[in-house]
Amino acid sequence: MTVRTRIAPSPTGDPHVGTAYIALFNQCFARQHGGQFVLRIEDTDQTRSTAESEQAILDSLRWLGLEWDEGPDVGGDYGPYRQSERLASYRQYAEELVQKGHAFYCFATPEELDEMRREQQARGETPQYDGRGLALSADEVQARLAAGEPHVIRMKIPESGHCTVPDMLRGDIDIEWSQVEMQVLLKADGMPTYHLANVVDDHLMKITHVIRGEEWINSAPKHLKLYEYFGWEPPVLCHLPLLRNPDKSKLSKRKNPTSILYYQRMGYLPEAMLNYLGRMGWSMPDEREKFSLADMLEHFDINRVSLGGPIFDVEKLSWLNGLWIREDLTTEQLADRLRDWALNRDNLLQVLPHAQSRMETLSDFAPLTQFLISGMLPLTEADFAANKLDLDEQKQVLQFALWRMEALSSWQRDTIFTELKTLSEQMAIKLKDFLAPLFVAIAGTTASFSVMDSMTLLGPDMSRARLRHAVNALGGVGKKQLKKLEKQYQQLTLGGEE
Ligand code: GLU
Repeated sequence: MTVRTRIAPSPTGDPHVGTAYIALFNQCFARQHGGQFVLRIEDTDQTRSTAESEQAILDSLRWLGLEWDEGPDVGGDYGPYRQSERLASYRQYAEELVQKGHAFYCFATPEELDEMRREQQARGETPQYDGRGLALSADEVQARLAAGEPHVIRMKIPESGHCTVPDMLRGDIDIEWSQVEMQVLLKADGMPTYHLANVVDDHLMKITHVIRGEEWINSAPKHLKLYEYFGWEPPVLCHLPLLRNPDKSKLSKRKNPTSILYYQRMGYLPEAMLNYLGRMGWSMPDEREKFSLADMLEHFDINRVSLGGPIFDVEKLSWLNGLWIREDLTTEQLADRLRDWALNRDNLLQVLPHAQSRMETLSDFAPLTQFLISGMLPLTEADFAANKLDLDEQKQVLQFALWRMEALSSWQRDTIFTELKTLSEQMAIKLKDFLAPLFVAIAGTTASFSVMDSMTLLGPDMSRARLRHAVNALGGVGKKQLKKLEKQYQQLTLGGEE
């Protein structure tokens, strides 16, 4: 048997460090067994998937030094490697399960299902699909299909007992079938859900080991049941521990930047990032902290993964990155890195249009643009003191702007401007006064070029991180104040929609 592993990212946002972490372990496992590592794009959620996100995922994983043997960009024998290009087959598989009696049509409308859940809640039950589609006679199903009524296909789930999920690291995990929903496999628009497409493709791509994050454990019973229904051999399952913030909560961009692009822009070296990700739940036999991908491969043993939630601590990462910069790069190499990182022609051509009109000498370049290549700015309350709004109002503006920017899915200058302008109107603050604290947060001074341009150049994660940092420079937001602000923020939005 040839070992085949995969990662299956959904291209719905910025490339996440968690994706790189899972990819690293999949690559090491495959290489160690002389097998193949596949990258498949799961883009069946067509409203949220974008080509830019897919490109950013591929670029940043490659930047880190990861290499897949098959994927949408490199091809392979089991393609296409993008689910949107494999759509035709999923319906056929769902219908095969209906024919075998393992799945069924359901014509319930979303309103009907809402009503069902409301009634269940009123009775004090956990809302769950009640199997109403199963009660339809074959004739009725045929008649409604013939009439073209919208429908989904759901899988059957055993009524009692439990499913044993064998996990390579965790041993057997028992999950009661009563906890598992009769999962929709094919949606009303004909698109497969993650569960169907994932199982079908893992089978067709001959994946032998599914190594993924622990957040998928609860999906495993559905997946194993699908393998059984199809009569296919399931892959070995292995659920890696989730990355956590230093406070042990699940790593989330609200607390820590999670996009690989942020770490790239901050100036972390890819080899240090990979090294740090390799330390997430795993250690070298001699416990040394600094090791290369080649070292990791040589000593890799998945059984050395410890299940306690690994902490992704940016300070620790910085420490490790410093070791790599000081111990592994010659001065010449460092010069090349700096040039490739920010001082390259492409970057200069993006930045200069904003700086040139303000320059008298070439030496004006550094003070005008240094904030674009800095990490966090050294801000204090004094930096905000000259602005019109008082410090509390500025903090509120920054926090609200941060929430708006966190909700933005497309990072374009015009969208950023529209969002900020709308927010200033909702808050009834003159745009100029509203933007002043944002200027300070983003550029360190109000005497800089357009804050919208700066945010576009800095990218979403660095911009959000700077806004968060500025809120903290103004004393931060305690739990109680956060509640109050959240309420005011909601009211703003509601008010704006009326
Ligand atoms: N598309 C899923 C994700 O976004 C894949 C999960 C899996 O590995 O099965 O993470």
